[in-house]
Order: sequence, then C-alpha cells, then structure tokens
Amino acid sequence: MAINELFNGGCACGAIRYRVSGPPVMVEYCHCADCRKSNGSAVAALAGFRRNGFEILDGPPLHYESTPAVKRSFCGTCGSPLFYQNQDYPKDIYIHLGSFDQPEALPPDRHVWVSERIPWHRIKDGLPQYDQFSGTGLPEGAPPYKKPIET
Ligand SMILES: [Zn+2]
Ligand SMILES: [Zn+2]
Repeated sequence: MAINELFNGGCACGAIRYRVSGPPVMVEYCHCADCRKSNGSAVAALAGFRRNGFEILDGPPLHYESTPAVKRSFCGTCGSPLFYQNQDYPKDIYIHLGSFDQPEALPPDRHVWVSERIPWHRIKDGLPQYDQFSGTGLPEGAPPYKKPIET
C-alpha cells in the first residue's frame, strides 16, 4: 500500500462524501456490543486513519455519543454509519469499511473486542485476535487474545 494513498468514500445516498489519506493505522473487525448496535450487524469493520489526513467533502454528517468519550457519525438522510472518534485516541478517526468506494483496498488485519463476540460468529481467518482494543499500528498493542476459540 503506497504511503499517502487517498481513499474516497461516502454514505449510501451520496449526501456525505469524504476523503482520507493513508496508510491506515489499523483495519479491524470490532466485535464490541456498541459497534454491533450502531451497525445493526454481527460485527463492524473499521479502518483507522490519522485525523489530519481526513476531510469531509460533502456533508456534514450527524452524530451522537455512544459513550461519553465516543462520537459516532452517520448520514442524517440514509442513516449509513460512517465515522467513529474516541477521545482516548485523539489523533485517529475510524471509518466504517463498507462506506469506502473501494473497500477491497483495505483488508482487515485483526479482530478486536473478541471478548464481546457473538458466540455463533466463528472466526477462522487466522488474523490476530484481541480481547479488547488492541491499540493502533502493527507492532504495538495488547497481547493477542489467548483463549482458544471454540469451533
Ligand atoms: Zn446518506
Ligand atoms: Zn467496537
């Protein structure tokens, strides 16, 4: 993946458009209950980037706080979930992977919050798994989730 590669995306109806420059700091499947609810899906897929490379081109989106530190943004017209910002990670913005025009360019590299995974959601892709959030970047972060995953 080229440094400073640009990634474009937007919501389902096209009212919100954004652009972000890579490379991503991480691309995760998040199994936490808050992501599940905000997506209406069994697991969320998010790509994290530095905020200073992020730009809203058309908008703005609406947002709410799913916890006091977390702001989740979505399109007020079509409801697509778009962005996740956490005060604990003030340099980063997490973007819902399905909103990118070319999500195939951003393959997930880990599973986080596996402790909250729905039991029937079986993970068999061989990617690292973390009990909670992993921290960003590849070399750092919490130790991989140690419990064996039942199949
Ligand atoms: Zn929309
Ligand atoms: Zn989550």
